[in-house]
Amino acid sequence: MADKKQNRRNNKNYDDDYNPRFRKQRKKVCVMCSDKNFELDYKNPEVMKKFVNDKGKILPRRTTGACAKHQRDITLAVKRARHIAILPYSQN
Ligand SMILES: [Zn+2]
Repeated sequence: MADKKQNRRNNKNYDDDYNPRFRKQRKKVCVMCSDKNFELDYKNPEVMKKFVNDKGKILPRRTTGACAKHQRDITLAVKRARHIAILPYSQN
């Protein structure tokens, strides 16, 4: 028991100067709000791939950085893309 605790304390998987509490936060800007020319085209697999992970799941807002309005658009577009078989529903 004690061994395990000690081990965990010594086994730091991050640098000394890396403190998660004061990690540099880069403000994410919604791609669609910042880039007016960005077109969320559900028929374009290259665009749609950015919004799903390797399992085919829709990425959360904290990952895509999209605003609430555009995240809804993304979700809709991904679902449309799945329906026309541009994106997979699931992948193992
Ligand atoms: Zn937006």
